[in-house]
Amino acid sequence: MIFDVLTLFPESVDRFLNESIIGRAREKGIITVNTINIRDFSLDKHKKVDDYPYGGGAGMVMTPQPLFDAWEYAVKLSPIKPKTIYMSPQGKVLTQSLVRELKNEKRLIIICGHYEGVDERVLEEIVDEEISIGDYVLTGGELPAMVLIDAVSRLVDGVLSSDESYLKESHYDGLLEFPQYTRPYEFRGKKVPDILLSGHHANIEKWRYLKMLERTRERRPDLFEKYEKENKEKVLEAFGLLPRKKRRKKAGGDNDGEKGTSGI
Ligand code: SAM
Repeated sequence: MIFDVLTLFPESVDRFLNESIIGRAREKGIITVNTINIRDFSLDKHKKVDDYPYGGGAGMVMTPQPLFDAWEYAVKLSPIKPKTIYMSPQGKVLTQSLVRELKNEKRLIIICGHYEGVDERVLEEIVDEEISIGDYVLTGGELPAMVLIDAVSRLVDGVLSSDESYLKESHYDGLLEFPQYTRPYEFRGKKVPDILLSGHHANIEKWRYLKMLERTRERRPDLFEKYEKENKEKVLEAFGLLPRKKRRKKAGGDNDGEKGTSGI
């Protein structure tokens, strides 16, 4: 997957995306991140990229010419027309399901705004989608672009060591992840739940699923409500609340239905 980032601060984007998992994926060529400096395309003799807003008001606005030319340059790098995203607090909020949609693109051009933003006319001309990383305002689009690239790249085959790594993570299936533990067994008087040392994989899976449900219900009732609607029976079963008749049927008739999974 290829990302072309149009920015006034290419070094900050490059520096961050050269670290850790994403840095390794770039090194292996699984993902490519091209940073394109918008200022390099300015035809102004002082390489100016901003100007005062028409109608007055605070701050400066990014002028259309350098951005438009930088975008045309990025489009020419690609054999197919890439999707163009403008990182903006006015855009659709980035969620894991949007991340999954974006993962299906082969190439994304990502525009990072600065100052008061970008002249509206260039946005109308070149942008396919505006994406926000949340309802707050940052100084520039670089951090949002890095957030988007990181989240999408994790889903690209070969970036993480196995599919497991993201399939069970928070938000993938609409739930938050279960609690994780590592060594030591006891830390400051707190022990790892015994079930995780039992070696009984089926019971561990049930316990983890129950924890995902409990955690999501407690921390994100909005997500839980949606998940519960779509997975009613599964949720009732995990909480040990499936009606007696259905439990017996599920267990092939040999279960007296008294014990639910929450008793683990
Ligand atoms: N004046 C703009 C407004 O009120 O909508 C905000 C401009 S902001 C200071 C500068 C740039 O940061 C934006 O052009 C955008 O690229 C980026 N940005 C700021 N907050 C963002 C957010 N929550 N999500 C995505 N991009 C954001």
